[in-house]
Amino acid sequence: MESEKQIDIESLCLKMKEFLAFENIKTNVSMSEYTSFRAGGKAAAMAVVETIPELRRLLNLLTQEKVPHIILGSGSNILVKDGGYNGIVIKLGRSFHTVQAEENVITAFAGAKISAAAKEAMEHGLSGMEFASGIPGSIGGGVFMNAGAYDGEMKDIILSVRAITSDGTREYSLSGEDLMLGYRSSVFQKNGDIIICAEFQLEKKDKEMISARMKDLMERRNRKQPVNLPSAGSFFKRPEGYFAGKLIQDSGLKGLSVGGAQVSPLHAGFIVNNGNATATDILKLMRLIQNTVFEKFGVRLEPEVRILGD
Ligand SMILES: Cc1cc2nc3c(=O)[nH]c(=O)nc-3n(C[C@H](O)[C@H](O)[C@H](O)COP(=O)(O)OP(=O)(O)OC[C@H]3O[C@@H](n4cnc5c(N)ncnc54)[C@H](O)[C@@H]3O)c2cc1C
Repeated sequence: MESEKQIDIESLCLKMKEFLAFENIKTNVSMSEYTSFRAGGKAAAMAVVETIPELRRLLNLLTQEKVPHIILGSGSNILVKDGGYNGIVIKLGRSFHTVQAEENVITAFAGAKISAAAKEAMEHGLSGMEFASGIPGSIGGGVFMNAGAYDGEMKDIILSVRAITSDGTREYSLSGEDLMLGYRSSVFQKNGDIIICAEFQLEKKDKEMISARMKDLMERRNRKQPVNLPSAGSFFKRPEGYFAGKLIQDSGLKGLSVGGAQVSPLHAGFIVNNGNATATDILKLMRLIQNTVFEKFGVRLEPEVRILGD
């Protein structure tokens, strides 16, 4: 939900304090501290919700007051523009981090790390989540993005998702086709609703084998990706019939910098922050890459990273 209107943050905070803990509301929050890019502007406020009733009330209030809001997972696929986000960033508190295994199903709340869910699955001898074990981010972000790697994607294992409408009025469950899971997309990108938890259907297999596969994939990731520098992973979606990284490399852009942002010399699909990049640097480099690749190959690269703010 976006709006041009300046929000009255003081009066909004007073209203939020009626049902949220004082320490769970922060104003003027630097989003560089909450995103893996370690860059970007400030959000007008951040509110951490600890329970579903709190989430529901907050969504009711923000809808009533017509205040733009976004839910933040682990911030590993978001870039907030330097002008900031004139709205409320909602974060899910600790009670949304639970992961449970029962028979062949893992139930994970949206705030849990994908890696924690994959580890829990492995410990219960449940296979199917290995592909995701090294994807940074939360279950909510992973479902929203239909995150994938090494020939696997969330779509392969999601049994059902519980969500709440963006105005907080209704909780519901969805499964299968209704989730509209496609390449890095889901129904939640269209309806703006909030994922509360997800169930994953897995298969009983040997624990040692699962663990070995996870280790192997993590080693591949560490070898091929610039994991020691801030980034948001692959910056662009894979255009049909191509690989974004290869197009960028073949355009001669590997290693190119704009300010503190650089096309990773290790993996051209990644834009990395070399320490002092602004969101503007990152976005300028993004446009330069898009224009060059389009001129050379006639392919339009679309960002996979969610770009937010002014
Ligand atoms: C080093 C690195 C490697 C990566 N490798 C991969 C990879 O192999 N494969 C891959 O797919 N991605 C990869 N990514 C990108 C990222 O990790 C995934 O997109 C991840 O799923 C994002 O999860 P998040 O919790 O960080 O989401 P965020 O970045 O916090 O949010 C992303 C979007 O999801 C929405 N969202 C988050 N939580 C919820 C919720 N509960 N309900 C509704 N919407 C929600 C947000 O509003 C936002 O629009 C990588 C990133 C990095 C930094």
